[in-house]
Amino acid sequence: MYLKQIKALGFKSFADEVNIEMSKNITGIVGPNGSGKSNVVDAIKWVLGEQSIKNLRGEGAMSDIIFSGSSKRKSANFSSVTLVFDNSDKHLPIDYSEVSIKRTLYKDGENEYYLNNNKCRLKDILELIIDSGIEKDSLNIIGQGEIQNIINNKNGDRRIIFDSAAGVLKYKKRKEEAIKKLEKTHDNLSRVNDIINELETQIKPLKEQKDVAKKYLEVKSELEKLDVSVITKKITEINASYNNHKEELNILNKKLANINTINVDEDATLVSKRTELIKIDKSIQELNKSLIEVSSNVEKLKGEKALLLERVKNSNENDKIRLEKEEEILSLNNKLDLLNKNIDSNNSKINDIKNNIKNIEDKIKQLNNNKKMSNDDLKILNRKYNDLGYKIDILNNEIETYSSVSFPVKNILNNNNLNGIHNIIANVIEFDEKYVDAINIALTSSKEFIITDTVEDAKSAIKYLKDNNLGRATFYPIDTIKARFIDDNSLDIIRNTDGFINIASNIVKYNKIYQNIILNQLGTIIIARDLSSAHVISKKINQKYRIVTLDGDVVNVGGSLTGGRARKQSSNIFSKKYEVEQCIRQKGYTEKQIKELEENINEIDYNLNNLNSELLNLEINKSKLDSVNEQSRLDVISTNMEIKEKEKDIKHYTIDSDSIEDELVKKYYTEINKKNNITKDLDDINLVKEKLNNEIEQLEINIKKSNNIINKMVEDSKNLEIKINSESIQLDNLLNTLNIEYNITYEKAYQTYYLEDNIEEAEENVKKLKNIIKNLGVVNLGAIDEYDRINSRFDFLNSQKSDLYKAESTLIDIINEMDKVMKEEFINTFNKIKENFVVEFRKLFGGGNADLILTEPDNILETGIEIDVCPPGKKLSHISLLSGGEKTLTAISLLFAIIKVKNLPFCVLDEVEAALDEVNVDKFGEELNVLKEDTQFIIITHKKKTMEYVDYLYGITMQESGVSKLVSVNLKDLEDEIGR
Ligand code: ATP
Repeated sequence: MYLKQIKALGFKSFADEVNIEMSKNITGIVGPNGSGKSNVVDAIKWVLGEQSIKNLRGEGAMSDIIFSGSSKRKSANFSSVTLVFDNSDKHLPIDYSEVSIKRTLYKDGENEYYLNNNKCRLKDILELIIDSGIEKDSLNIIGQGEIQNIINNKNGDRRIIFDSAAGVLKYKKRKEEAIKKLEKTHDNLSRVNDIINELETQIKPLKEQKDVAKKYLEVKSELEKLDVSVITKKITEINASYNNHKEELNILNKKLANINTINVDEDATLVSKRTELIKIDKSIQELNKSLIEVSSNVEKLKGEKALLLERVKNSNENDKIRLEKEEEILSLNNKLDLLNKNIDSNNSKINDIKNNIKNIEDKIKQLNNNKKMSNDDLKILNRKYNDLGYKIDILNNEIETYSSVSFPVKNILNNNNLNGIHNIIANVIEFDEKYVDAINIALTSSKEFIITDTVEDAKSAIKYLKDNNLGRATFYPIDTIKARFIDDNSLDIIRNTDGFINIASNIVKYNKIYQNIILNQLGTIIIARDLSSAHVISKKINQKYRIVTLDGDVVNVGGSLTGGRARKQSSNIFSKKYEVEQCIRQKGYTEKQIKELEENINEIDYNLNNLNSELLNLEINKSKLDSVNEQSRLDVISTNMEIKEKEKDIKHYTIDSDSIEDELVKKYYTEINKKNNITKDLDDINLVKEKLNNEIEQLEINIKKSNNIINKMVEDSKNLEIKINSESIQLDNLLNTLNIEYNITYEKAYQTYYLEDNIEEAEENVKKLKNIIKNLGVVNLGAIDEYDRINSRFDFLNSQKSDLYKAESTLIDIINEMDKVMKEEFINTFNKIKENFVVEFRKLFGGGNADLILTEPDNILETGIEIDVCPPGKKLSHISLLSGGEKTLTAISLLFAIIKVKNLPFCVLDEVEAALDEVNVDKFGEELNVLKEDTQFIIITHKKKTMEYVDYLYGITMQESGVSKLVSVNLKDLEDEIGR
């Protein structure tokens, strides 16, 4: 590799573009003072990345290197220098045989770098040239007056030249970067540790709070499930009892109203009867009064008649007999009157009885009709009841013998020798009848999947099927099947969608042991109201789950639709179950109807009995009265005959029409007749009174009885009302608790929660769970998320910490590895340079001694390098005491020693030999001639002796004041001139 070309424009004194073509060996640059020779060196340094304006011999800003103008020329706007290298030996690690590096600077300070005309960063250029021997710190560019610095520098400062020669600068740079990274890693580590420590103080209490909160949520959820189940069961039970009590109250109130009406009627009857009694009493009083009056008249007339009879008896036999006869006739007439009166009264009684009999016969007829109709109904109901019983038996038998399930499944279920066989899925669930179609479709073929305890049980069953060639069946072992759920996110999305009913697994009730199996089959199926809402729901959840409508239409996963099946499936296992339930319900209802009807018939029979016995009594009474009347009529006839006899007989006796005796006797018998009539009336009325009294007594007993019944009923009704009120309050409270505490309706809770344990046990558990929650004290629910957040940060930081530790140890390994390489390379190179240094020194000095000594041999990485020399014939003394020329020669010796060890591609030497005498310049030139084979030299010199050794020579002039110009110098002319 060598520098082929330098192109400069606007750089320092090179206002116009110059193009310096370089010789591969030695190029000389000559010219008068101030013509711009050193500016060429600056230009090379500048392109290779020099950032210090001082090192470019400027003072202020980097823009000082832009041509600043002259008396005749305007300043330039930018400066641009390009170095073109021949890289055919691929010395630079880039796949180009020619490499151009260009740097441009604008007045505004903007810097640009180009690599082979492609814009790049300074970093790219520095990385390309590092350890190539042309980088800033290598010894390849020695500026004017700098050669002796090599000697004058401190031992430590000198080290960089050796590092560059050893090619370890890149390692140093990488090490610096690694150390920087290491420091950064340390900083990060200590920061991470600080945060981790801080988090550790937070995390412990937060963990405790989180555990409490989790426990709370766990217990709360368990409590909720249990409490809601308990409350739901209580509501169901209390509601049933509430309805029963209301029904009872209703019936009781109706009865009460009936009995009250009867009671009121009876009261009214009693009042009217009592009024009637008063009237009768009054009549009796009047009759008695009349009787007394008549009786006293009778007594008076009887006395008068006795006196008269005594008088007549003593005076006239005829009169006496006639009077006696008359008296007999009158008495018989009285008797006749009384008989007729009795007949009349009996007749009216008989009429009453006849009316009563007719009424009762009508009633009996009516009741018999009713009874016949009821008996007909009863026959029909009994037949229905028996039919339902048969139907239930048949259906139950079909269910029990699994008649509607497939042949292999039936065989398994009916085989008692197989272990661990539970039932088919369809038979372990229960649900509201309205879901029959949906669940039937949701389960489709899995209805007949057989639940077993374990996989082994299923295997034995399959073996049995195979051995007996019975076909195939599917088994769901409880110990294996896993629950499946709808993810929370989807559930949140669909929960409030119109038409969403529930998850299928939530609407069926089952024993807890089948939970996983039911959730596996129904946990991911959504029940929707109808097909259009199913469609909406499916869309919302990206067709992720199967949706079944109440009608049994399906939106499948992925969005395809299935539907339109026949509505009724008689072989459907569920239909059969519900048919049985329906039949049982109907049978119960029929039984109730039969009972009611039988009671009705019994009542009719009872009433008929009563009416018949009443009828019999009436008949007996009537016939008694009839016979009495018969007798009375005979009496009337015989009395009439007797009267006629007597009247005939009496005609034989003289009648004195004016006789006062006759008058008196007539009057007496008239009064007797009156008295008899009154007595008869009194008897009749007393009979009526007695009857009335009996009736009143009976009524009073009845009223007392019904009052007792009414009182009892009122008390029962009150008790029922109290019960109903208390149940209503309990229901309100329980519904409120469901609503307020658990935000769930009873209907929903009823569908979702099912209490298997007994209620007392469950209530005891609810109490325990509530106590646990109470004992948890203050619960911070936010702690769960907060802990997760802090903990994941804590984990993250810990993983960062371990990453940082790893990075740290990797960096340390890298640094150690680089240190090892650097030490080896350095000591290797140092030893070689040291050897060459002695040789070069002796060549240039013509003898003497020289040495390079490590100031800290135990610290190879940082040791300084001391130069120890002894020119020939001189006493070994300190290097600073050497002359300027000696110092230059020593420095050149070191430079040449280095060049021999490290192949510098090119070497720019700006008047390095200025302090040498001609003999020494010769020695210098001859050595250059040797070294130029491997290293290109660019020599700036004023010495003609030096010019003898160059292969190509440029002159730099400043004809136009302030602007450097390049002129080729003919070496022949020069040689001639030197020769002269
Ligand atoms: P010597 O032989 O004395 O060492 P030289 O040929 O090496 O001289 P340089 O030091 O290369 O000369 O050039 C110095 C010249 O460059 C000065 O005349 C200086 O004015 C000119 N110069 C430096 N910077 C600029 C600049 N930015 N614009 C114009 N001219 C500049």
